[in-house]
Amino acid sequence: MNILIFGPPGSGKSTHSRTITERYGLTYISLGDMIRAEIEKGSALGKEMEKYLAKGELIPDIVVNTLVISRLRRDRSNFIIDGYPRTAEQVLALENYLYDHGIKIDVAMEIFLSKEESVERISGRRICPGCGAIYHLKYRPPKVSGKCDLCGSQLVQREDDKPDIVAKRYDLYVRNMEPIIKFYKKQGIYVRVDGHGGINEVWERIRPLLDYIHNREKKREENE
Ligand SMILES: [Zn+2]
Repeated sequence: MNILIFGPPGSGKSTHSRTITERYGLTYISLGDMIRAEIEKGSALGKEMEKYLAKGELIPDIVVNTLVISRLRRDRSNFIIDGYPRTAEQVLALENYLYDHGIKIDVAMEIFLSKEESVERISGRRICPGCGAIYHLKYRPPKVSGKCDLCGSQLVQREDDKPDIVAKRYDLYVRNMEPIIKFYKKQGIYVRVDGHGGINEVWERIRPLLDYIHNREKKREENE
């Protein structure tokens, strides 16, 4: 089973991707993780990408395509791709690659969230610069305001998580996704899942659908 998963900032798609990865034994290909790994390495590519992120802008297609496609050459099948494709150019690159290699996507799933909810979820996040622990002012507050429970460091808000940057990221997401959603709708594989509510609530909207596809694919393989 091959899945594309989309969602605006705060949709919980990375959390759900990890659950999906475990339940169905897939390879998790996260564009965000790959970008962060490059930035941590401090490579020239990482430094360039960091500049775009700080401004709340998208990283150029050619860079992103190279990252994802080189990964797909290693993990050919049974994957979930998180955060890609995000532009028409990226869809084209991905579709060309998949077509050339006889790979098909079973479902392009969007976890939908309103702008208000997206901004609230992300802008409430606080990070510990000491140990990397993540808090949320509303959903997971530290015991002492502004201090990390684990190491006592002063919590900070990532530049990327400030409300005006999140609002910009959300608008950019919606604008960029419009033609992509249209494309996958035409292919008949687009599914929209309501991302409001708790993690488990949303998961119970996702699970029946993926169980169905997973079982269908298993039967197909058995009959081959
Ligand atoms: Zn800490």
